[in-house]
Amino acid sequence: MSDFDNKDYEEEEREDLKEEKKAFSNEGSEESTERNGSEKGDDGALEEMKTEEKKPDVKKENEYEDVCFICRRPESKTGKMFKLPNNISVCNDCMHKTMDTVSQFDYQGMLNNTNLNGDWDKLNKGKGIPNISFVNLADLQGDGGIPNKQKLKKKKPEEGAAQVFDIKNIPAPHKIKAQLDEYVVGQEKAKKIISVAVYNHYKRVFTGTMDEIEIEKSNILMLGPTGSGKTYLVKTLARLLDVPLAITDATSLTEAGYIGDDIESVASKLLAAADNDVERAERGIIFIDEIDKIAKKKNTTSRDVSGESVQQGMLKLLEGAEIEVPVGANSKNAMVPLTTMNTKNILFICGGAFPDLEEIIKQRLNKGTSIGYTAELKDKYDKDKNILSKVTVEDIKKFGMIPEFIGRLPIICTLESLSKEMLVKILKEPKNAILKQYQKLLELDEVNLEFDEGALEAIAEKAMEKDTGARALRAIIEDFMLDIMYEIPKDDNIGRVTITREYIENTGGPIIDIRSNSLELPDNLNVIEQ
Ligand code: ADP
Repeated sequence: MSDFDNKDYEEEEREDLKEEKKAFSNEGSEESTERNGSEKGDDGALEEMKTEEKKPDVKKENEYEDVCFICRRPESKTGKMFKLPNNISVCNDCMHKTMDTVSQFDYQGMLNNTNLNGDWDKLNKGKGIPNISFVNLADLQGDGGIPNKQKLKKKKPEEGAAQVFDIKNIPAPHKIKAQLDEYVVGQEKAKKIISVAVYNHYKRVFTGTMDEIEIEKSNILMLGPTGSGKTYLVKTLARLLDVPLAITDATSLTEAGYIGDDIESVASKLLAAADNDVERAERGIIFIDEIDKIAKKKNTTSRDVSGESVQQGMLKLLEGAEIEVPVGANSKNAMVPLTTMNTKNILFICGGAFPDLEEIIKQRLNKGTSIGYTAELKDKYDKDKNILSKVTVEDIKKFGMIPEFIGRLPIICTLESLSKEMLVKILKEPKNAILKQYQKLLELDEVNLEFDEGALEAIAEKAMEKDTGARALRAIIEDFMLDIMYEIPKDDNIGRVTITREYIENTGGPIIDIRSNSLELPDNLNVIEQ
């Protein structure tokens, strides 16, 4: 109110206040009737207000959650809020802060300032709080109270998370593998190993038969060239089991106290993936990618904060330990609440390409066969694309992983590098294959998209050249589909597009069939006419 000098206004206000005082002595009946726009008495008005509060249909109310009037955080974040009149909610934190702040001021003076006599000048001398005005909560009441804009729309629970298994009653390994087969092409051995490991792990977790014979944790070390489906396999598995999954990159991890994420931050990621539900997080899966990047550095004189030390730091996590995890943040600091999490039942899967490991394996294999009659050609293993599958613990140790670390990842599985045939299958067979995705997209424009075999092979060949596994496929397809996706919606007459090898190799174009050429339309019409 900046118009205190304005005398007329001041007088008017005094008049108002006097009236208001009278109204107060009348138990405010007039005011409430006025607000409700009816001539009912006090009780009637109150009743009507109550019903009005309840009136907005329940369904609508449920879609919204309260937000704190001060800090604007939703109730799901702040916890239970104080409900003030007029649908105003204030969170616990803000309420306490307000109380603390208020208690530092001269309470008496503050109250005097709101004296209804309105003798502002007199009271204001040396007292009161400058620049602070008090909000009359009643002023905030619009039509029907505080509307939904004071609230934040609640997040809907995610739909379509296809939980196939009940992990409490985990199905036999062959069933797990059968489900994986629908998404992951090839990699038979790896799928088998993982199915068994997951089966054992969750059986151990849920049957509680660990008292007499303690079954060891079946953490997994996954080796395979880039783009061979390591991450994809783990993601598919977590989705089928409907367990939370955290994927981190070992390269970002450093020993606690150094720049980078400290090792326990992986657990807080898992907690976030489980919507801060500690119990759910404690039986989730943590996938640590690029694990080969934390191998012991050779010939280094400085402290190896991102290599060996990280391996050391991970030991207790892999084995199972109680750790303090920040809730809702990646790093611990004074402002973030901590919770305790046990990693005993978390399944750890570490993956990496281990690029120089092949050389180590070759050296070992060649050593045994280089002398005598049994000597074999030195380059015998050079062309072996799946030499990784011959890996032993010794080789991994030589690569730079410390024995204690390997010891905590008892299951080693290797993924093959993808062949041309596998790439073709990846293009068309999995449930959410890339080609199926594009076909679906064009189907919405009522256009049939087809690829002839030659085209698929040409795409696979191009991908093989890039040496990034199946990851290259999408980039190649996106490249030539751009023109198709741009041109086709222009012409409504196009009914079918067939992608040919020539088109992929830039020596020709796709085959385009015009809708009117097809016989289907007249046939259908005939049927309808009959
Ligand atoms: P990496 O082994 O480097 O972790 P990814 O798992 O990220 O490789 O694979 C990249 C993409 O390639 C995946 O998103 C997936 O679509 C596809 N892919 C790779 N391998 C397979 C496979 N065996 N079956 C089906 N899709 C695969």
